[in-house]
Amino acid sequence: MKVTCDVIKDILPLYLEGMLSDDSCAMVEEHIEQCQECKIYLDEMKTFNGIPIDTNISPLLKIKSTLRKKKIQTAILSIMFSIVILVITIAFLTAPEYIPYSEKSVTIDEIGNGSVLAIFEDTVYGYDIESYPTDDGTSYIYHITTWNSIWNRNIKRSNVNNTILNPNGENVTSVYYYDTDGSGGDILIYGKNENPNGGVLTLPRLFLGYYLLIAIALATICGLIMVIFRSNAKVFNYTMKIFFLPVSYILGQLFVKGFTTWSYIATRDLYAILLTAIPLYIAFLMAINLIREYKSKRT
Ligand SMILES: [Zn+2]
Repeated sequence: MKVTCDVIKDILPLYLEGMLSDDSCAMVEEHIEQCQECKIYLDEMKTFNGIPIDTNISPLLKIKSTLRKKKIQTAILSIMFSIVILVITIAFLTAPEYIPYSEKSVTIDEIGNGSVLAIFEDTVYGYDIESYPTDDGTSYIYHITTWNSIWNRNIKRSNVNNTILNPNGENVTSVYYYDTDGSGGDILIYGKNENPNGGVLTLPRLFLGYYLLIAIALATICGLIMVIFRSNAKVFNYTMKIFFLPVSYILGQLFVKGFTTWSYIATRDLYAILLTAIPLYIAFLMAINLIREYKSKRT
């Protein structure tokens, strides 16, 4: 019987497995030597058998765990950025919008036995009262301002209670209302004018402290993200760049004003802080790049 290619191909798997008798082996090898087609077929089978069936699935598990890790990190990142957006939104909505005195948001009234009462209108969401002793120390000068917020006007109305300026029976010489834009100066709304320079008396403006708190909150959140994602270089580096924005502002505040957040000329001080913070921020970015370059050269 002539050994056909088909017969050889049928028994090649057994030949490869070494399960043929010596005679059959010899027959296959003899055919292969003469038949190019079967030789190629055998080579293909060898190659195919040569591919190891990898029973080690640890790389797959690793991919799976990496994917899961990424998923968790993405989730945390989304939450963090939601918090950042939420904080900024709430800060924006509740940011004090100082009420100019022309709206007569506060009136001062004596209610007997020396008590002086500040009566706030419904539109007032918050107020600030500061008192300073007069030069002779026998009496006090008061400064009041009031504010509203987008939150109070549009979302949840809440009024402030009227308040007694001198609960301990201090003498009230004068009460000024101050506008935060600083244009009109402070307006005498009660008592006599104690300002030697005339009707205008300038008072500490307080919104710098508010901005400082926002900067600290942002820096803290970014810091937390950096701690959580310290193994994820991309997120870490990106967050670090954001992190240095509030940090630059905080340092700018420290450089310009020290630890005091009030200012007689807050708008000018704010510009000064920003002018300090911007180059600081650029310096931080450059420092990050330099450190990165230095590290990559070393390794
Ligand atoms: Zn053949």
